[in-house]
Amino acid sequence: MTKRTRFAPSPTGYLHVGGARTALFSWLFARKHGGQFVLRIEDTDLERSTAESVNAILEGMTWLGLEYDEGPFYQTHRFERYNEVIGRLIDKGLAYRCNCSKERLDELRETAMANKEKPRYDGHCRDKHVDPNEPHVIRFCNPIDGSVVVDDMVRGRVVFNNEGLDDLIIRRTDGSPTYNLTVVVDDHDMGITHVVRGDDHINNTPRQINIFKAMGWELPKFVHLPMILGDDGARLSKRHGAVSVMQYMEDGFLPEALLNYLVRLGWSHGDQEVFSTEEMIQLFNVEDVNKAASSFNTEKLLWLNQHYIKESDPHHIAHLLSPHMGRLGIDPTEGPNLVEVVKAQQERAKTLVEMAEISAFFYKDFGEFDETAAKKNLRPVAREPLERMRTALEAQEDWTGEALHKLVQDVSEELELKMGKVAQPLRVAVVGRAASPGIDVTLELVGKAACLRRIDKALEFIAQREASA
Ligand code: GLU
Repeated sequence: MTKRTRFAPSPTGYLHVGGARTALFSWLFARKHGGQFVLRIEDTDLERSTAESVNAILEGMTWLGLEYDEGPFYQTHRFERYNEVIGRLIDKGLAYRCNCSKERLDELRETAMANKEKPRYDGHCRDKHVDPNEPHVIRFCNPIDGSVVVDDMVRGRVVFNNEGLDDLIIRRTDGSPTYNLTVVVDDHDMGITHVVRGDDHINNTPRQINIFKAMGWELPKFVHLPMILGDDGARLSKRHGAVSVMQYMEDGFLPEALLNYLVRLGWSHGDQEVFSTEEMIQLFNVEDVNKAASSFNTEKLLWLNQHYIKESDPHHIAHLLSPHMGRLGIDPTEGPNLVEVVKAQQERAKTLVEMAEISAFFYKDFGEFDETAAKKNLRPVAREPLERMRTALEAQEDWTGEALHKLVQDVSEELELKMGKVAQPLRVAVVGRAASPGIDVTLELVGKAACLRRIDKALEFIAQREASA
């Protein structure tokens, strides 16, 4: 039988890393088994669901490359179907109308709490035949005794006593169906064979199993993924910094780095850390998912990001870097080829944001020289080397890295200086700070006009310094 999985986010916020990890594992399971992956938007909570959040989820999935074979299906489009199922449950005597007042329910809760018991509905309306014209909710008749066994593919066998599960509301007074009902109807109708989700849902699973059984539907298999914790051991949340997938994009992470990072949250294959998407699909095995929670480690994510920046095709990096240059007000088509800039910077940045920042000087003049770098390198002794370089560069026609390197070498020899004594002031003059790729490629990509202009500015800086000394 074809294996079918789904990702079923509620659109009440952005796509966060926990959700993305669930989506990834569900997607991997489908891909691994040549199955299908369905996207379902669980938007029945009309007050908290927003179109903006739906977009953020779709955008995050696309950015990560988790393409779905079917969907997105929207639960709000399926109310008719949910009502049909609720009607069938009522007809079978497995659901009933309840008009218990808020006061009665509050009292039940308070008594239970006072007795240190778990609050649960007492089935008061089960045999009451509440008038359908009166305001009411619909409750599911949960079996009173016996137990429900969840044979989870990660957690193993988990047993729940029916005694602990009360008659849950499956339709609210306003007519809207609730999560545990809609999820069962959808997982059945959409032919989901494997329900992969976070283990915060494990307590819902026995309730859902009882609804599956009441409808006489075949049960899917369940895969509950362990929690993700922040570095302080608490469940990962906004408090721990960036948790939204798109925030990672904005912060200059590569989607392949984030995916690679996410796959290791709760899953391992020996001690391998780096996985291409193809490898993940090939090696992923749900039996290797950990039972224990995993911790989010930003340092490791940065390490992976740097790895992918270094190892990826420069064209690919340039494509992803371009919007980050745009954010700095730079149009990378107006200046050196961005692919060449990437090649020069690939070893030097952990994120694309950082790469954009250290590459801005290739495209536009900087404001002030970095104070420390200028103090150290733009001193009166640098005046002559810079003047000589300016003259040589101005006369230079062959503007290639190799020829430019030779010029620096020639000037150093003429002045009987070590090359660094010429190259470093020149670098600070042209780049504005002490670090850049090799002086040859730096000069080449900055271009003649900008090099001369910036050397003039450095000479002026030195002159002012001399004057005020
Ligand atoms: N909509 C639920 C959530 O976002 C997930 C439901 C499920 O996977 O069963 O937490």
